[in-house]
Amino acid sequence: MRVLSPSPEETPAIGLAALELALKADLERLAYPGRSWVPPRQTRAGLPVLDVLIIGGGQSGLTAAFGLMRERVTNLLVVDDGAPDLAGPWKTFARMRTLRTPKHLTGPDHGLPHLLFQSWFEAQHGAGAWTSLGRIPKEQWADYLGWYRRVLGIPVRSQTRAGPVEWCADEGCFRVPLEEAGGASAGVIHARKVVLATGIDGSGRWEVPAELACVPRALYVHTCEPIDFESMRGRSVGVLGAGASAFDNASLALEHGAAEVRLFFRRRELPTVNAYRWAEFVGFLKHHAELPDVDRWRFIRRILEMGQLPPADTYRRAVGFPQFHLHPGSPWLSVEAVEGRARVTTPQGVYLFDRLILGSGTVTDLSLRPELALLHPDIALWRDRFQPPPELAHADLSRHPYLSAHFEFQEKVPGRAPHVAAVFNYTFGCLLSLGLGGASISGMKYSLPRLVAGVTRQLYLDDRDVFFRSLECYAEREFEP
Ligand SMILES: Cc1cc2nc3c(=O)[nH]c(=O)nc-3n(C[C@H](O)[C@H](O)[C@H](O)COP(=O)(O)OP(=O)(O)OC[C@H]3O[C@@H](n4cnc5c(N)ncnc54)[C@H](O)[C@@H]3O)c2cc1C
Repeated sequence: MRVLSPSPEETPAIGLAALELALKADLERLAYPGRSWVPPRQTRAGLPVLDVLIIGGGQSGLTAAFGLMRERVTNLLVVDDGAPDLAGPWKTFARMRTLRTPKHLTGPDHGLPHLLFQSWFEAQHGAGAWTSLGRIPKEQWADYLGWYRRVLGIPVRSQTRAGPVEWCADEGCFRVPLEEAGGASAGVIHARKVVLATGIDGSGRWEVPAELACVPRALYVHTCEPIDFESMRGRSVGVLGAGASAFDNASLALEHGAAEVRLFFRRRELPTVNAYRWAEFVGFLKHHAELPDVDRWRFIRRILEMGQLPPADTYRRAVGFPQFHLHPGSPWLSVEAVEGRARVTTPQGVYLFDRLILGSGTVTDLSLRPELALLHPDIALWRDRFQPPPELAHADLSRHPYLSAHFEFQEKVPGRAPHVAAVFNYTFGCLLSLGLGGASISGMKYSLPRLVAGVTRQLYLDDRDVFFRSLECYAEREFEP
């Protein structure tokens, strides 16, 4: 007799409650080894010391926390400056309709089938709906992350901003001031390890080109900011950048009735090949970090050179409007305010706009990060360790932190600040050292276990004497001879 499995269309949605029960059962079965093991610490004044403070409660912070909790590192806290379940871009400034990555990417699930986005989606909508889904709607991705946080009991302190991380040598741990959303102090926290999960701009900041320095703030807005698109109705809008976000924002301006939208970029042609899709194979995702420096440099430099392109539907969304114009080979040479408008000069001509939108991406520079204000002078950068051949020079890459194999910072001068190795940079700034890790769904499957292993490794090695003493004292008799 042949047993026929039901087609996706016939598979009913089991509901989230049933999924959560199945997940709970998985976690119970996979709980080995279940013993808590990290020796508790206090400051000399008796204040609690966290084993790990995770700064940033987006997908990276949450999944790093769960990975550590599975390894019985439970004395941890995630802080995020956003409102609960609004961490990261998905429900704030991401203006695409769906994720740009394929729906079958895994990562946050840590290999647990009942924790997959697909399982969460199917539990509510059925397997047929999953089959017919093109890509993941961004709001659903955010909702999934919210469910993930709740169902796994991840401790997150929202609307709390972490200030400069400071090493306290006499306590042997970090001291981190916290601030509430309004700026009021939310106390100080002590932690042995710090994971920076601060996002795509987490090793620098969103870039505003120098040409805009003298332009009044009211005339331009960055794609990472809240934008009043309604105010663009009937207006002319200039957009800078050829990446996906530049196109998304151009589309929204058009959909809100902008009279014309012109999108400018430096390249002669729009990139149409996505290096990130090339990168989605085991060799690169898992082992980029093990390549010699010269190879890591040439691979990542090539990926940057290929550029970030708008996905096909993002491109079509914008070019479908007759009021939309593309301007290749058109860097902004200068921008001036003229009678309340912005005059943009490019090699191809001069244009006047009512409003500008900057889709100019991020710049890598640790000295710009408030969390690293006290640590960055001691952190090694690629330019401290590697000199590329002149034809492969790249200013932004040279400012990338030179990270160890588990996302740890390295000290610039050996012996001067070994504590920087207890800070893990799981942001986009890991790109050159470790490939697609922090701030990328594509890399999570391999980067998360690497990060988690780096933290547990240090927690074990730091306390080797304590563990040895516990072995010496171990006297659990299994039988009486
Ligand atoms: C518009 C947009 C679309 C993207 N689309 C995709 C995609 O489709 N597929 C893909 O793989 N990647 C995509 N990415 C890249 C990446 O996946 C996202 O940036 C993702 O949000 C990264 O997750 P994260 O947790 O690392 O950072 P984030 O989601 O940015 O979370 C970091 C959090 O840390 C908070 N934070 C920062 N500093 C502090 C501090 N000092 N104290 C407290 N909190 C702090 C931030 O406010 C934020 O809430 C996209 C990025 C953007 C910007």
